[in-house]
Amino acid sequence: MSQQNELFKKLTAHCKEYGFIYQSSEIYDGLSAVYDYGPYGVLLKNNIKEYWWKAMVQMHENIVGLDCAIFMHPKTWVASGHVDAFNDPLIDNKDSKRRYRADQLVEGYMEKVQGKIDKEVEKARKRFGDTFDEPMFLKTNERVVKYVEEHETVRLRLADLMTRKDLEGLKNLIDALEIADPETGSRNWTEVRQFNLMFTTQLGNISGEEGKLYLRPETAQGIFVNFLNVQKTTRQKLPFGIAQIGKAFRNEIVARQFIFRMREFEQMEMQFFIRPGTEMEWYKYWKETRMKWHLALGTPAEKLRFHDHDNLAHYANAAVDIEFEFPFGFKELEGIHSRTDFDLTSHQELSGKKLQYFDPELNENYVPFVVETSIGCDRMFLAILSHALIEEAVPGSEDGENTRDVLKLHPALAPIKCAVLPLKRNEDALVEKARSIFNELKFSFPCQYDDTGSIGKLYRRQDAIGTPYCVTVDFETLENNTVTIRERDSMVQERVPVSRVEQIVGERVDMRKIFK
Ligand code: ATP
Repeated sequence: MSQQNELFKKLTAHCKEYGFIYQSSEIYDGLSAVYDYGPYGVLLKNNIKEYWWKAMVQMHENIVGLDCAIFMHPKTWVASGHVDAFNDPLIDNKDSKRRYRADQLVEGYMEKVQGKIDKEVEKARKRFGDTFDEPMFLKTNERVVKYVEEHETVRLRLADLMTRKDLEGLKNLIDALEIADPETGSRNWTEVRQFNLMFTTQLGNISGEEGKLYLRPETAQGIFVNFLNVQKTTRQKLPFGIAQIGKAFRNEIVARQFIFRMREFEQMEMQFFIRPGTEMEWYKYWKETRMKWHLALGTPAEKLRFHDHDNLAHYANAAVDIEFEFPFGFKELEGIHSRTDFDLTSHQELSGKKLQYFDPELNENYVPFVVETSIGCDRMFLAILSHALIEEAVPGSEDGENTRDVLKLHPALAPIKCAVLPLKRNEDALVEKARSIFNELKFSFPCQYDDTGSIGKLYRRQDAIGTPYCVTVDFETLENNTVTIRERDSMVQERVPVSRVEQIVGERVDMRKIFK
């Protein structure tokens, strides 16, 4: 198993063992691509949402929040284009009976070609050492040049077929590249068909098509249909934004990679309404602003990159992804889209209600343009955990023999900010003192009291859930009312008066630090 695969397996096991994420309905063997967040998972997820909400709403005078219902009038999804165009091309393997996304099969092929390029580069780097010139090598090594050309040809062909929704062409490409079922190696494929990703359900009092409802596949449409309500009630002037966090549902054909691709997930979306013609300026602004949001958490810049879309969605005139290097490679974490006036105009036409803004400076009415930022909360959760989970030699341990699993989360995101631990669990005076300190601190931030093991074990447990500070109550505490505060990453302990713990920990875990 590759190192990356192993890391990913360890991550999923860690999430279960320490109460971050469980498979949904596990006692019935689980429901595929649906997950539940456990006690620490829900705290971390709430902190991610708070970080997003504060950065977007609290820090911007001209962005306001909204919380729409999951169900919307079914015409919403006709206007948005989801009924006609929210499709993925699927293909079945006749032998294995497995179902795949046709575009993802081709992408898998491209990843393999890229893997060959990377392997050649690594080999050459070892051979040439310090004198290795990678750009030159990519341009001149005959074998690599062939791979690079092949990769580019397939990429362009796929983008073209997807843009034109050419299903026959996709099938021909899969055949031409001799792509086989990744699980079984069979090349016995069906034709490619379109598959709509929206879940449907039925209103209780209306039968048939009339009563058909959709579970929203994105939160954005709730914002669009409320655009005038919000603008009028908040008296916002353009440019202004509306932000929303909420559940979305997609009947993904291939749902894999843990919480990366789920059928029920949560989105954090913001629609920014602007004057037509200014969209490229704001698109650039939000690209930069959103990247800063990621970097401010301490994520290394080399783990994040922009990736321009090869084929634009029907509503967009520019689109870029912020990709994160997950254990299974660089993948989309967030999308920034210039959506033009597509959505508001479609809703205006289908509903017959004006969705226009009167611009007092220009003295005219128009349908605003929109730039959207859209990030999956669960994907952000996975990105954060996959960067934070580290197995390391315990700092200071002799010859690095002792190892520990530690979640190096940003303190402002950590589920538990501070654990209060008695040095010995059988000493009543220590236990009593530790409890009284815990009972004070719990008013200020999420804390935990624990006396269920030796102090070494308790520290390891807190490391594994990412608690940045452990307060230890020892015999000296009983004499002079001081405790030690142990910092998670360095494991350095400082002795401080009990009366100062709340302030010290409070300041260090405060989200304000990220913004300032
Ligand atoms: P993908 O190409 O991975 O299917 P997308 O381009 O369809 O994603 P968008 O419609 O732009 O995604 O949705 C915005 C964000 O919502 C994505 O960047 C991602 O973080 C999140 N997201 C989308 N689909 C899922 C899913 N099935 N599970 C978890 N998060 C998702």
